[in-house]
This record gives sequence, structure tokens and C-alpha cells, in this order.
Amino acid sequence: MHRMYENEDITIFWDSDKCGHAKRCVGGSPTVFDITKKPWINIEGAPNAEIWQTIQECPSGALTCTYNHGIRIEFDEACCRSVAFDGDNMIGECDYREEDNSWTIYHTEVSPDHSGKGIAKRLVFMLAEEAERRKKNVIPVCSYAVKVLKD
Ligand code: SF4
Repeated sequence: MHRMYENEDITIFWDSDKCGHAKRCVGGSPTVFDITKKPWINIEGAPNAEIWQTIQECPSGALTCTYNHGIRIEFDEACCRSVAFDGDNMIGECDYREEDNSWTIYHTEVSPDHSGKGIAKRLVFMLAEEAERRKKNVIPVCSYAVKVLKD
């Protein structure tokens, strides 16, 4: 399961397949990570610096995070994609094809001016989460989506 939690400044990624349940996150920031709650991550529960520090201590890599750099990510179901915006300018997208019960992610691209900011990962995670919520199989075929979802 892939989930993304955003506030104005940072995005938390959680990949349940990697989670070893050592619960270091719960011990590090109990007001953010609480497995008795749904959703179990409350990104508003502590200052960003505390969340960032706690995530660095996740032993499995199930939790990761990035700064948002003012970039907004939206799901565009009509066009089968997630889209990144810098203000009104579209600066990236991730596209999928729906077949039977699957979403095949076949293209991820971010403007070179915005590379290295975690935007592509946010685009891929958004599609994975939306697909999983709709009980669709996610099939990554573009190399970046494979790296994010399979590594
Ligand atoms: S610290 Fe990482 S591996 Fe441990 S429970 Fe939290 S997310 Fe899972």
C-alpha cells in the first residue's frame, strides 16, 4: 500500500510493503504516527523538523519525505494522470492507461528546471494511492515508476 501525506511544506511517503513495524516512528513522534488511528499519520501533529528527524530513523525505508518547494500535485482523472504545478504552470506529469482492473503507469516526466525536488515521486505515489483506493492493480512500466514502486 502506498500513501502520501502533505502539508504546505513537506510530503511524507509511506510504503507499507517495506514497513518492518519496528515502530521507531511511533516512539519518535507519537503525535504524528499513531497506529490506533485512521489515517495513522497526522502530518499536522508536530513541527516539520521533528517529523523529518523521525523519518530519517525509519530502519526499513518505508517512510520517506521531501520538501514541496511550493509545487502542487493534483490528480486529473479525466486525463488519466497526476500533474505538478508551479503556480499556474504545469511542470510535470505522470500518465497511466486503464485496462480491465489495472492502471499501467507508462510515463513520468518533470521539467529539468525542477529536477531533484521529489516531484516525480509525488506524482507516482499519487497515482499508486488513487489506484489502490479504487482496488486497481498498479503496473509500473516507465523506468522511474518502476524504481519508486518496486525498489
Ligand atoms: S519506523 Fe518505519 S519500519 Fe518502523 S513502523 Fe515506522 S514506518 Fe514501519
